[in-house]
Amino acid sequence: MTFTENKIGQVCFMTAPTISARHAFTTRFGGVSQGIYASMNLGTGRGDSDEAIRENYRLLGEATGIDVTTMAFTKQVHKADVRIVTMADVHELFTAVPYEADGIVTDVPGLALICFTADCVPVLLHDPINSVIAAVHCGWRSSVADILGNALAAMESLGAKAENICAAIGPAISGCCFQVGAEVIEAAKEYIGSDIEGLYRPDEKAEGKFYLDLKSCNARRLMLLGVKEENISVSDECTKCSREKYWSHRFTGGQRGTQGALIVIDRKD
Ligand SMILES: [Zn+2]
Repeated sequence: MTFTENKIGQVCFMTAPTISARHAFTTRFGGVSQGIYASMNLGTGRGDSDEAIRENYRLLGEATGIDVTTMAFTKQVHKADVRIVTMADVHELFTAVPYEADGIVTDVPGLALICFTADCVPVLLHDPINSVIAAVHCGWRSSVADILGNALAAMESLGAKAENICAAIGPAISGCCFQVGAEVIEAAKEYIGSDIEGLYRPDEKAEGKFYLDLKSCNARRLMLLGVKEENISVSDECTKCSREKYWSHRFTGGQRGTQGALIVIDRKD
């Protein structure tokens, strides 16, 4: 199932057909940042102006209807820790978050979750029956360390059930461009716990290198965890190929802004 491109004013964001909660995968379009951060940069601490970033969040909140002043985020470190967050975890932009986690989970209405990417795979999860959500930053290291398994366990501890969970695997560097070494292929095989045939291919121009479809690996892992195939949508966009629309860490050599994947359970009132 393909994602939808939404344009509200200048702001452009993607939504997934499987997720009924309010959510957004942001693009580069519609912000006010300049230069390498042009224009919807959501990443702090990368050299962009604080003022521009604040305005980007304001514009994004206006376009998506997500209250970005009530948002939980974490310091992402490419590990597999997942944190259950509450209103106590709402931090001001530009303040250091006192913990590390690459996945966050909540059942609190009105508390928006955000994870940041620029090639890594952003995964949003939602159990619409039990009202539990997650935002998970799935780079390859976190993926093979089974962060999705940890995210589902955290969601289940709040009452979610795998058979209800809907998933959106967002824009990320894809099988066309994600060149890795043999050790990553081996780790992915171990992670999936089954044959990953069809999800990687050798790079014919570089000895010992492969191209890995990490988005599909993560979709397969979700299915092994009990998420139904029809409840999973996978973006077909590659951040490195679509460099005008998304930031790619690999393409830019790290000189870049950051996109966000956001999700929130709307308040009832
Ligand atoms: Zn590509």
